[in-house]
Amino acid sequence: MNVESRQGVKRPTSNIEFCVNRGLTMAEVANVVRVTNVTKVFKLGKIDVPALKGVNLEIAKGDYISIMGPSGSGKSTLFNMIGGLDKPTSGKVFIDEVDIAQLDAYELAWLRCRKIGYIFQTFNIIQVMTALENVTLPMIFAGMHDDAAVEKGLQLLELVGLGDRFNHKPFELSGGQQQRVAVARALANDPAIILADEPTGNLDLTTGEEIIALLKRLSQERGVTVISATHDFKMLNVSDQVVWIRDGRVDKIEDREELSISIGQIGTRV
Ligand code: ADP
Ligand code: MG
Repeated sequence: MNVESRQGVKRPTSNIEFCVNRGLTMAEVANVVRVTNVTKVFKLGKIDVPALKGVNLEIAKGDYISIMGPSGSGKSTLFNMIGGLDKPTSGKVFIDEVDIAQLDAYELAWLRCRKIGYIFQTFNIIQVMTALENVTLPMIFAGMHDDAAVEKGLQLLELVGLGDRFNHKPFELSGGQQQRVAVARALANDPAIILADEPTGNLDLTTGEEIIALLKRLSQERGVTVISATHDFKMLNVSDQVVWIRDGRVDKIEDREELSISIGQIGTRV
């Protein structure tokens, strides 16, 4: 950890401070995420496994982005880089134009707790806690008082359609309901970005569609940027942009207008 930052630099408490501390105004930050020349090589004994081979990406605020690609193409690896959960072998990841490699441990923890909400394929909610306790946990970590956390937790569970299930534990909830709890938890600290890795991967068709619709509604109503790694073609319908990734590289990036053509192609192929 960087000693100077531990002693001298004020801890960021808001998105605005996060930028101002670095001499940026929020208006200057058009891209909430910018990835430049990112590579990732995993070492398996003596073997190098290149998972990302030079990825460049710019994601605008409030967009709904799908990172599409077959299994093993590098989606989760890219997800982990953008989310500050793993470090690139080379290249940079900027969140609100801040190079996250420059953050110290406190700032990185702040980024993960306050700026980004994570959703995973296997829900990853805590089994011994109720829905409400799962949702309030990140708020408690962020220093919110219990009463305020409970009030906000109930509001968020209401938002995802689980207002009456707040006292249920995960084993008393269906897969789709557990993923809704995970969505509510991801929103706990009003993140600017929701990162979802195969959020519909363990869900049936209808439940998957419900989760996709919920994420889309959140991006529209709350201005949250949603970045979802997926190979679920149902995601195409709601995406502002699709980043097609293949063998660790960005194959092509399609905007909404171009997508209807791809959807047509997929429709005729299947
Ligand atoms: P996707 O999410 O698109 O299925 P991943 O990002 O999980 O793909 O994996 C991309 C490639 O990196 C694969 O070849 C995978 O085997 C490899 N890989 C991923 N994580 C690791 C790891 N921790 N150690 C070694 N190889 C890994
Ligand atoms: Mg994956």
